[in-house]
Amino acid sequence: MPLIVQKYGGTSVGTPERILNVAQQILDSQKAGNRVVAVVSAMAGVTNQLIELADQVSRGNQPTNREMDVLLSTGEQTTIALCSMAINAMGGKAISLTGAQAGIATDREHTKARISNITPDEVHRLLDDEHIVIIAGFQGKSPEGRITTLGRGGSDLTAIAMAAAIKADLCQILTDVDGVYTCDPRVVLDARKIDEIAYDEMLEMASSGSKVMQSRSVEFAKKFGVRFEVRSSLNNNPGTIVTEEHPNMEAVVVRGVSIEREQAKVTIENVPDSPGVAARIFQAVSDAGVIIDMIVQNVSKTGKTDISFTLHRSDLTKAEETLNPLVEELGNSVFIETTKGIGKLCVVGIGMRSHSGIAAQMFSALADNGINIQMISTSEIKTAVTIDESQLDKAANVVHTAFNLSSES
Ligand code: ADP
Ligand code: ASP
Ligand code: MG
Repeated sequence: MPLIVQKYGGTSVGTPERILNVAQQILDSQKAGNRVVAVVSAMAGVTNQLIELADQVSRGNQPTNREMDVLLSTGEQTTIALCSMAINAMGGKAISLTGAQAGIATDREHTKARISNITPDEVHRLLDDEHIVIIAGFQGKSPEGRITTLGRGGSDLTAIAMAAAIKADLCQILTDVDGVYTCDPRVVLDARKIDEIAYDEMLEMASSGSKVMQSRSVEFAKKFGVRFEVRSSLNNNPGTIVTEEHPNMEAVVVRGVSIEREQAKVTIENVPDSPGVAARIFQAVSDAGVIIDMIVQNVSKTGKTDISFTLHRSDLTKAEETLNPLVEELGNSVFIETTKGIGKLCVVGIGMRSHSGIAAQMFSALADNGINIQMISTSEIKTAVTIDESQLDKAANVVHTAFNLSSES
């Protein structure tokens, strides 16, 4: 009998009615002749409310990541119990498991733990006993048995990793949109659903703001060859297949556009242009746990140079505090300038490997609409720019139109 893993996101389980709807879908999947494992998220908004509560009792202090994980994991734990109850009330046979009970072992990095191993014996035992197994997304246990969480959006990772561990025949990510679109359909209203996308494209889109999939989960799927489908939990439309690249995929040059808000930029000016300086700067930032994105260094003509990098706005103060003493050490002409209100826009497609002119086309579309580019970075399958955040939605729309992404290719 085929084995399927389904993941239902926060909106899909956001109300008691929606939980009943999900319960019915899970039962229908079982009645269609499948063994079913369902991974569920916290109800919409719950994780954010828990973070807010932690802030309120911490009086400006940072709560420990260990306690954050104990707190945040309760969101998913609520949903597994409610889903199981709903299925049982409909006459089905369901049992809920926390991440630890499902055998999900992680490292010790609280709030952003990595899955190290899955021992799904209990999941298999329950499936053999004809149960539907409902697993809490986003959580696992450290080697010491402490509760860990897998980073925001981490239920996607639970589903994909569990699908790999139990060798599921199918993995479905059920969400509040019909699939992966050529751009966030809330921003570009005529964005089109993509039928099939390569892991690398999905990975670039996810890691540059397309939050429909958590980027780590796509990385995992690529590494272990887990083909999966993103589709809606609210209707029966076919979704998007995320899979290995095949030659036909190269015919599409730009698969999609992604945007990322709330970015900030740090520029260190007049840095001595000598070996080791960049290493010191970025080592300090990394030691402070700040994740940086684009880096640009100007060519030096005078023995001095400027180094800029982007990061998430919430990390800006930490980065400044870390860099201030270092900047003083580097000499009194060196200073830091910071800018908030930056947004990032990317075009992604594996066809870009064999096509030229994509950057020119993107930059012209932005220029024709009076949008100024601040920084540029490229990879084999991506061209990214930073622009003023207030122009991000307009930029996404003009670039989407410039590459004709609304019409069927
Ligand atoms: P879930 O709660 O099911 O995990 P998320 O909110 O994490 O759902 O992700 C779904 C949302 O991702 C959509 O509502 C959509 O606004 C957003 N999104 C961003 N980029 C894209 C894209 N390229 N295609 C589809 N959805 C996207
Ligand atoms: N509840 C977690 C979050 O909101 C994990 C998830 O939904 O995937 O990030
Ligand atoms: Mg999500």
